Amino acid sequence: MAKLILKDKFMDLVKDGHPGIFPGLFTDKNKIERLAEGEIVNIYSAKKEFIAKGYLGVENRNIGWILSYDNEEINQNYFSKKMAKAVSYRQKLFMDPETTAFRLFNAVGDDIGGFVVDYYDGFALIQWYNEGIYQFKDMIYKAINDIVFPRGIYEKKRFGNNGSYIKGDSFVSGERMDDNFEILENGVKYIVNLNDGAMTGIFLDQREVRKVIKDKYANGRKVLNTFSYTGAFSVASAVGGASETISLDLAKRSVEMTRNNFEANGIDLENHSIIVDDVFNFYKKGSLNHVTGEYDMVILDPPSFSRSKDHVFSVEKDYKKLVENFSVLLKNNGILVASTNHSKLSYEDFEYRVTRGLRNNGFRFRIEEKFTQSSDFKWNDNFEESKYLKVLVIKVYR
Ligand code: SAH
Repeated sequence: MAKLILKDKFMDLVKDGHPGIFPGLFTDKNKIERLAEGEIVNIYSAKKEFIAKGYLGVENRNIGWILSYDNEEINQNYFSKKMAKAVSYRQKLFMDPETTAFRLFNAVGDDIGGFVVDYYDGFALIQWYNEGIYQFKDMIYKAINDIVFPRGIYEKKRFGNNGSYIKGDSFVSGERMDDNFEILENGVKYIVNLNDGAMTGIFLDQREVRKVIKDKYANGRKVLNTFSYTGAFSVASAVGGASETISLDLAKRSVEMTRNNFEANGIDLENHSIIVDDVFNFYKKGSLNHVTGEYDMVILDPPSFSRSKDHVFSVEKDYKKLVENFSVLLKNNGILVASTNHSKLSYEDFEYRVTRGLRNNGFRFRIEEKFTQSSDFKWNDNFEESKYLKVLVIKVYR
């Protein structure tokens, strides 16, 4: 274990609970460079007062995370205690017969940066975001096994270059999950696969958004769902009574996955089309004729960055344009659902881009509802980036 001395100017930041460790925090920068991933560090003031304990693990701009403000051992008991606290916070979800998949442990929101755990109806999926926390994997597997009693554990390593996903078998232990495994979310079925690349088939953080779309906004409406992936928003809309949905995604695989999700819910595909195309072709006049027309609801949920054959898209630079281009497809009184998971953009800045796009089209509007991630994706108020999801539901008058 290494001892590091905190610079005076960062004393309040750390004491107030900012969970990230970055190189500039300490007086002895060279010492940190000699330490290994997974090393436990004790942090002291210049006056030798104990401040906090953390571990080292390079993740984006951070080189580690704070683990505790007590001088406690980081051992099995520590990880089991944190896991038990996280599980008890989600008791309502465990008891909910309508929802069988949700986040169990959310990194800094549950006191340990660097990994998250999702629950998929009896199966646990761990995602590791740095190599340091991965050194503690056996204690974390045991904490999950002892407290959650999962049928099986899967994991995804996201500590390749620049935080990229490292390909490989995701299975860790226990039972293997069947292909086309069904989970339930507010009564809607979705197909997931924990061992098929980086993604699972569903983004669980949008649970509350899918619920309001289903319960409040979809009935009788014609819906255009862009960047639709496995069509989760389309299926939620259809279950909520949408008269028609169009799902649009660049990935060919989205067709089969979307179809499977509709079929899992016994919905005939006659009024639900799935189109493979580049959303940004819509920027070129006359392209994407198959989506022009009038919609009662348009859903925009792009990745933070996208590079396709002809286009580069970034939420920061291009969201306004996305709104300008797609809001023209709305009928008067139509609903725009604008979403981003870009953690570096504040809610205000996102809202500005969306509303600017509507104003540029000369549309009046009313923001009906604002969402962030569902509460099982617990965030840490001292780490703004942990509250990353932003979703606006807007009524547009034109
Ligand atoms: N809205 C989805 C999640 C979107 S994930 C849901 O709620 O489940 C982002 C998706 O955008 C991916 O499926 C990816 O294939 C798609 N995508 C990325 N760039 C695209 C582009 N230029 N045109 C269409 N789809 C794109």
